[in-house]
Amino acid sequence: MQYRAIGKTGMSASIIGFGGEHLDGKPYADVQETVNAAMEHGINMLDMFMPGDDIRSNFGKALKGNRDKFIIQGHIGSTDVNEQYDISRDLPTCQKYFEKLLTNLQTDYIDVGMLFFIDSEEDFEAMCHSDITAYAQKLKQAGIIRAIGASSHNPLIAKKVVETGLIDLLMFSINPAFDMVPADGSVFDLMDNPESGKKSFQGIRPDRLALYQLCEQRDVAITVMKTLGAGKLLSKEHTPFNQPLTVQQCIHYALTRPAVVSTMLGFKSRDEVLDAVRYLEMTDSERDYTHVVSSMQNNFDGHCVYCSHCQPCPVGIDIASLNKYLDIAKLDEQNVPPSIRHHYSAMENHGSDCIQCGSCESRCPFSVPIIGNMEHAVSVFGK
Ligand code: SF4
Ligand code: SF4
Repeated sequence: MQYRAIGKTGMSASIIGFGGEHLDGKPYADVQETVNAAMEHGINMLDMFMPGDDIRSNFGKALKGNRDKFIIQGHIGSTDVNEQYDISRDLPTCQKYFEKLLTNLQTDYIDVGMLFFIDSEEDFEAMCHSDITAYAQKLKQAGIIRAIGASSHNPLIAKKVVETGLIDLLMFSINPAFDMVPADGSVFDLMDNPESGKKSFQGIRPDRLALYQLCEQRDVAITVMKTLGAGKLLSKEHTPFNQPLTVQQCIHYALTRPAVVSTMLGFKSRDEVLDAVRYLEMTDSERDYTHVVSSMQNNFDGHCVYCSHCQPCPVGIDIASLNKYLDIAKLDEQNVPPSIRHHYSAMENHGSDCIQCGSCESRCPFSVPIIGNMEHAVSVFGK
């Protein structure tokens, strides 16, 4: 397993994470078997947004003796007051469900207390002006949560949440289809009528890219939900692209976005865990998603999508990561965030190592001026 630092929290996330949702309603034996498989493979991120007592208690039992092996995202505001998943901004209700989460999981702390489902202006206003945020801060002061996070599906609202400086972690929905279509939810229509969408893709949405870059700038980690687009990206029938992606290509797409530390996959069984972790053994060409993205009508030309299709570099430069840090630095070259300088500096090889062989440029499907980027990186980062 590989791990990535969760911003400034001191915690490190496994790049493949575990969303518990799909085990809701399943027998305890399935939960135990899937948790065991996750532990065997070093998966340490666990999302527990589900409000029901049964599923939470099943996880509590399955984690017994191994609580410290997981970083749990527990959500503040996820309830089932109407006997189905629901959102609450009422403090006593949120408090009751959060306290029940601790009891059900048989633990006295949650690693990341997540402000749940901040998707609209009203949600954002409620977050800013209700006592829920103060509650999260008190939990943090008391050591009951170690960090504050939030979940959202809306890039504009998520950006506002990050800009408050309140959170260390954002759970956000990311996959190639969501990144290429309007953020107003029409992606679901698109997946039901894929033919209509094939003509409408025009590149990565600037509002989503701006969110990922802001998170990287501010050292806010992203954990990813909807990595597989509810499975539709894997299906020939539903994919909005010319061909389906594999699970591992979807994982790779998410993991190559700025700031992403973990993709939370909704495992239902040991076999699904084993299939996901095959990603770790795969070659770059098996993970490569470029054929799908580049087959669309698009305006990517000159813009790096961080796919690594241009590798290998004879001097070992990680071109996608270098481009990622450079793109963020270019947002304000006079004030490059220290964390970006640190990440760049920590790379094994730098722009100054480039021998201008040009082999990467001939492989890049998006005509990125890589050699020019190497020179630009040297001028910004000094090596
Ligand atoms: S330079 Fe081109 S091939 Fe390389 S990571 Fe960027 S988009 Fe992909
Ligand atoms: S041009 Fe530079 S970055 Fe590209 S493959 Fe050659 S050495 Fe590596």
